[in-house]
Amino acid sequence: MKIIRSIAELQLELGNYTLEQIGLVPTMGCLHEGHLSLIRKAKLLSDIVVVSIYVNPLQFAAHEDLDSYPKPFADDAELCLQEGVDIIFHPTNLYPEQGIAVGLHVQQLNQQLCGASRLGHFDGVATVVCILLNIIRPSLAIFGEKDFQQLSIIRRMVSDLYMPIEIITGETIRETDGLAKSSRNRYLNALARKKASHLFGCLTLVREKVTQGLSIPDALSAGLFYLQQQDIQPEYLSICSEHTLQPANQFIGVTPLRIFIAANIGSARLIDNIPLYSTNKEKEIKSCV
Ligand code: AMP
Repeated sequence: MKIIRSIAELQLELGNYTLEQIGLVPTMGCLHEGHLSLIRKAKLLSDIVVVSIYVNPLQFAAHEDLDSYPKPFADDAELCLQEGVDIIFHPTNLYPEQGIAVGLHVQQLNQQLCGASRLGHFDGVATVVCILLNIIRPSLAIFGEKDFQQLSIIRRMVSDLYMPIEIITGETIRETDGLAKSSRNRYLNALARKKASHLFGCLTLVREKVTQGLSIPDALSAGLFYLQQQDIQPEYLSICSEHTLQPANQFIGVTPLRIFIAANIGSARLIDNIPLYSTNKEKEIKSCV
């Protein structure tokens, strides 16, 4: 496995692979099982796997956790080695010294959910992913459903800008109590960690209520009541179209719907989502909680 920090060196190295399919897994490091599941998928689908590890300043607002974001690079490198990653791309900076003059701007898909409170966040995400794709030119890149709004925006970026790349998705990997694995779970103390499992509890409750025949507004009210009982004030709890991310007030059966949640628990801002109709994996987790 090669660890490469400079763009020129990376491109020189990638020049050795002209016929091979390159698969890219973009990350901000602090790798966990969620990231590793994406790496394993990339290994199955491509010949050469590149994992980028870059905490992108452009997607953090001034008051957010850019400086405190965990950076256990030696552990990350060890995990990548164990997974058979070919190249870790770990640049110190991807932007011009004088700052970036031209970047991408997201519209429509950033008006709701995380985009409503994290102004400029998805512009930063789209710009850095575009830069990584331009540098590495992979055949495919893999993104997790855990960050569903990000995934939707990247899919639209690739389609709207005719970028020659396939976007592959990976399902959310969870702890045994359902909490979605996240680098930010490290910020949770024991009490907050216990509380955090109620986010998945709330998502599955809302789904159960809809499946039982409750209307979407009533199912969401039941979810909000559940959160209130756990002393959690969500930033949002919403059922939205997977395609437009617009909130749905009724089930119309044409567009697939998803339940989305975000909340600050202790010092971590956590997000999660599940499809309105359950996958077998989620049923398994529910039955062992
Ligand atoms: P991050 O390092 O948080 O920027 O995430 C890098 C990639 O890993 C993104 O595509 C995320 O959606 C994905 N990811 C993060 N957490 C999980 C998880 N629990 N399961 C699957 N994928 C995940």
